[in-house]
Amino acid sequence: MLPGVIGLVQATEVVKLLVGFGEPLIGRLLTYDAVGMHFREVKLRKDPNCPLCGTNPTIKDLSIHTEGAAQACAVGDNGQGDSAAAVGTTAKPGG
Ligand SMILES: [Zn+2]
Repeated sequence: MLPGVIGLVQATEVVKLLVGFGEPLIGRLLTYDAVGMHFREVKLRKDPNCPLCGTNPTIKDLSIHTEGAAQACAVGDNGQGDSAAAVGTTAKPGG
């Protein structure tokens, strides 16, 4: 049931943004407590020190996510994310 509730909220947000109607959750975080059946809203402000969207961004190239995104998010043999594998190096943990 939880994925259905969250999926419905996400789909509603997409439709609102596409149609340009309503008040989207921009700048707000909506949390859902399924056990207590509570929705809660928290206002979020933009972080001026964010390395991606702050005033002086240091992350400027996201091409790794468009080329081989599956590798960038690959899970290693140990079940952990392995960024070294994502960039194609031969480095091994501990060696
Ligand atoms: Zn940011």
